[in-house]
Amino acid sequence: MTAALDLDVRSQFPQLVDSPGVAYLDSAATAQKPQAVLDAVMTYLTSENANVARGTYPWANRTTTRIGQAGDQLRRFLDDPSPETSGVHFVSGTSEGLRTVALDWLPTVLRDGDEIIVPFADHSANLVPWLDAAELLRRQGTHVVVRPMPYDSAQDYDVARLPVGPRTRLIAATHVHHVYGNDMNVHRLRAAAGPDIPICLDAAQSFGHLPLSVRDLDVDFVVFSGHKAMALPGIGAVWARNRRGPTFAPAGWSGTPNTAGIVSLAAAMDWLSSVGLSRISSSIVALGARLTAGLATLRSYEVLGCQDSLTAESTVQRRHGIVTFRHREIGSNDLGFILAAEGLLVRADGHCQGTDGEKTSSVRVSLHVYNTAEEVDRLLATLSALDS
Ligand code: PMP
Repeated sequence: MTAALDLDVRSQFPQLVDSPGVAYLDSAATAQKPQAVLDAVMTYLTSENANVARGTYPWANRTTTRIGQAGDQLRRFLDDPSPETSGVHFVSGTSEGLRTVALDWLPTVLRDGDEIIVPFADHSANLVPWLDAAELLRRQGTHVVVRPMPYDSAQDYDVARLPVGPRTRLIAATHVHHVYGNDMNVHRLRAAAGPDIPICLDAAQSFGHLPLSVRDLDVDFVVFSGHKAMALPGIGAVWARNRRGPTFAPAGWSGTPNTAGIVSLAAAMDWLSSVGLSRISSSIVALGARLTAGLATLRSYEVLGCQDSLTAESTVQRRHGIVTFRHREIGSNDLGFILAAEGLLVRADGHCQGTDGEKTSSVRVSLHVYNTAEEVDRLLATLSALDS
């Protein structure tokens, strides 16, 4: 069993400190907030609050500067190789970000007969906007072919069968799957796609969980939600490389941005960097492995998704701190309530999944850096008492 690192950061999360008996195991839904993020927001709102790019006075200028700096900080955080030409567009989160790419950018590159490849087994936020864009274009007389990313019953995307052709204009992919925790091998995806097709990465479950280098991954869009990465709800971003095809220039740059949210995102990136993304990732993976190893010893549970022992040919690298399972007899909703009564807070039932994949209800455990091996063991002990 892999040893968890047990980074001792729990004491920096006030909500967790206030609830010592609680194991928060639902970070894929939203993450808890460290004191540093709360402090940054409070300081901003009590001493510098003003609108952006409007003022002739210090608060407004300071807010404008902060927003520009947050964009630059995000580029560094993503290891952006060309910060002078990339675009950062702040949005409310992944759902809005993916819709913005799909509806503001995609129609500007698609012509009649063009093709896009989209993941049908992922979060609906990374499926519906692409289908909507295609439908919108169809009504205007432009027929776009939507091809599903090939997928097999082991919940693995099969890039060897990626339907790339001369008319493919976009591949939408998900970095870490929100139900199975599979970590998409973006290198293999890029290799299968070839050098010229833009890849849009839904990084909702990877941003702030693992080192994410756009230089290394060679993707064109990264879309994420701040709230899953310890910032406030209501802030996220689209990072766009602007290298393949027309520039991403979304409408809506005017208007008041979520200034406090952007401040929280900047503070969250500082906090995550100070702990270290590699350490965070190792800890999350180790805790997930501890849980799957424990579940494998219990007869009543079935873990969903592909397993960790994957071949070099696979698209999927490993399970990244998200473990979803079912009890063979107890309904998942009931199991969720039983666990909650023990202070074990998980997600139960359905998971906003697209059209493929497991439709039946299940229990999802999702881990972050404040979780500990002791919490995973407590969960396993409770699950074990329900084993038959
Ligand atoms: N994509 C994935 C993979 C997700 O896990 C989620 C959130 N569960 C989303 C998109 C949507 O994120 P948000 O609700 O923050 O817009």
